[in-house]
Amino acid sequence: MDLLIVGSGFYGLTIAERAAAAGRKVTVIDRRHHIGGNAYSADEPETGIEVHQYGAHLFHTSNPTVWEYVNRFTDFTSYVHRVYTTHKGVVFPLPINLGTINQFFQAAYTPDQARALVHELAGEFDAKDAANLEEKGIALIGRPLYEAFIRDYTAKQWQTDPKDLPAEVISRLPVRYTYDNRYFNDTWEGLPVDGYTAWIERMADHPNIEVKLSTDYFDESQPLNKKATVGQVPIVYTGPVDRYFDYAEGELSWRTLDFEQEVLPIGDFQGTSVMNYADADVPYTRIHEFKHFHPERADRYPTDKTVVVREYSRFATREDEPYYPVNTADDRSGLLAYRELAKGESDVYFGGRLGTYQYLDMHMAIGSALSMWNNQLA
Ligand code: FAD
Repeated sequence: MDLLIVGSGFYGLTIAERAAAAGRKVTVIDRRHHIGGNAYSADEPETGIEVHQYGAHLFHTSNPTVWEYVNRFTDFTSYVHRVYTTHKGVVFPLPINLGTINQFFQAAYTPDQARALVHELAGEFDAKDAANLEEKGIALIGRPLYEAFIRDYTAKQWQTDPKDLPAEVISRLPVRYTYDNRYFNDTWEGLPVDGYTAWIERMADHPNIEVKLSTDYFDESQPLNKKATVGQVPIVYTGPVDRYFDYAEGELSWRTLDFEQEVLPIGDFQGTSVMNYADADVPYTRIHEFKHFHPERADRYPTDKTVVVREYSRFATREDEPYYPVNTADDRSGLLAYRELAKGESDVYFGGRLGTYQYLDMHMAIGSALSMWNNQLA
């Protein structure tokens, strides 16, 4: 073995694929029973509808190197992501745009009129003096839009009143003064034509790559553990950085999600792939209806059944899946301390979402793995 990779998410698999193509023998271990990390998807058995097992994943990028690279393993559909939100029983388009504003104020403002209105409403606070997230939100888009679309949704995401959250949790709240409600601004977007798992499996399909699943790097009863491998072989580690150092500098905090999946005996539940729930009286943040991610599969998917997944958000404990870094001041100083420790580990390369304590979209994870390969490992 020339290289050991801990974690078979997009970061680990990109390094594995590049190393294998360069003639290196690579072993990838993952503690889960499947490859692909959080991008893993599986067909729901009763309906055959593809469900992203760790939350909906939409691929988008403006990076031509990444786009060219991912197209070696999969084609992409022409899916364009759009998000809607229900507030007080009425559905509005997101991100907040001219359609949202005109529907909310029951008006027909032009772009300039809407801009002037939001500017006037936002005058209640100055963003740079905002003492908490609520004041910052009002300073950015004005109280009416903040209270309707941001306040209660944010409280559900963080299980904390926005008055008690730091202002820096949001840097900006995008408002578009057109009717464009495409969610992403990127050059390319789409979903893998035959699913995430087929894409991921193609990346790992090389005689130089061996994959060992249900194998935890910290389990000393299996031979490829930390004690037995550090210093023996170069290691790319994409698990949680605090776990690697046995939490010596404290635990970094994460938010996690709980998913409640249901097969419903109807053809179409909500007419779209994702519906947010902006208000406090609905306990979940959003509902995904997975058949809508693949309208081109209409002839394969049942017309009398659908799969919906309700999503709830909360702070993670050590036992939960870490999803989004919380990034408090304590987390930031802990991360700096872990980075110092990481520098002292010879031939261990920390990467990916968990290894760098950073939210990374798929294209960012792939792009940064390509850079690590080219600059440090090739
Ligand atoms: P991961 O995919 O998390 O892979 C890390 C792997 O390491 C895991 O498989 C884990 O089991 C393994 N591991 C950890 N510890 C150990 C250990 N001790 N021993 C062995 N293996 C271990 N990106 C987008 O572009 N679009 C989206 O719409 C999108 N939606 C997302 C929604 C959610 C809820 C989340 C959490 C992420 C989303 N992402 C999205 C981000 C995408 O999942 C990441 O880019 C991707 O997960 C990063 O890949 P990674 O390899 O760094 O991490």
